[in-house]
Amino acid sequence: MAEEYSSVMFGRKLELERCEACVNHISYTMQFAIARIFVDERFDDESKANTNQIIDYIQDALLQMIDDASWMDELTKNTAKQKILLMHRNIGFPDWIKNDTELNEYYESLDFSPTDYFGNYLQYIKWGIKKNFESLRKPVDRTEWPFGPAKVNTFYNAAYNDLVLSAGILQGTFYHKDSPSYLNFGGIGAIIGHEMTHAVDAGGRMYNSSGNYMKWWSNSSIQAYVKLENCFLKQYSTYRVEECNINLNSHKTLGENIADNAGLKAAYMGYKLWVKDNGEEPWIPGMGFSPEQLFFINFGQVWCSKYTEQSARYQVLFGSHSPGRIRCNGSVMNSQEFSTTFSCPPGYMNPANKCSIW
Ligand SMILES: [Zn+2]
Repeated sequence: MAEEYSSVMFGRKLELERCEACVNHISYTMQFAIARIFVDERFDDESKANTNQIIDYIQDALLQMIDDASWMDELTKNTAKQKILLMHRNIGFPDWIKNDTELNEYYESLDFSPTDYFGNYLQYIKWGIKKNFESLRKPVDRTEWPFGPAKVNTFYNAAYNDLVLSAGILQGTFYHKDSPSYLNFGGIGAIIGHEMTHAVDAGGRMYNSSGNYMKWWSNSSIQAYVKLENCFLKQYSTYRVEECNINLNSHKTLGENIADNAGLKAAYMGYKLWVKDNGEEPWIPGMGFSPEQLFFINFGQVWCSKYTEQSARYQVLFGSHSPGRIRCNGSVMNSQEFSTTFSCPPGYMNPANKCSIW
């Protein structure tokens, strides 16, 4: 039944391998125990410190972008900058999972049996609900992780003004501590920029720097922002998702498209600030691409993806993010830096009318 459903909805032709299904299941139910094994092998303190440094540069870029936004009034700008500076960071993994005693205590009340799959699952659900209720009426804990650190995921939590960047995403194409910074800024840097700009977008403007629900933008800044959004609404509605032959819903994906654009810009500016402090890095021998070109190439690499017709349709109808190709092309088409870097002639990839908010 489940297989038939996923075949119709997502075009999946093969049943998930048993071992893969089990890994998925255990990654979901025991995410911190799994994360411990993962970070022991794949994530070290150097990566954490280095990622924090990347975030510092992108933060500086973002403060500059806010300063440069001529449409925003001074008071709102100052509060926006304050909010960016006060953003809490959960990077890699929470320290407590490295402590055996604390990790064991966390799972103490679970008593899984190797022969009772269904019973184990019920036990897990009850345990999870109880854990949630335990935090009721307690002070907000901004160090709390909303998902397992081994997951490939990032998240901006507006209610905590918190940036979460898992050890799972600080890998591969996104990041490596020994990669040149132009690859890291084009990869994880653009993702960090994306998440951070959520603090000052149409959603973020409803929560203050402590994560409390309150209006902190002036009416004139809100009106100016809404006006600028129109350019993105128009532009993204023209993009066709070829796999399913449907045009993108630019209203549904608006917030994420704006974050993609602003994130790329913040990452590029952050990279340039990094170079100012640390100097140019050597080119990769034999490739013939400049560091700036490789920044954008790695940005494209991150969004390289493949969809079945059904999963593309599902994404367009229900997703808040654009499919990978549009996340990449849509952002670079609006980037003057991209056009300059690749000497793009005026045309489709270098349109005269570029959308920009920041
Ligand atoms: Zn987002």
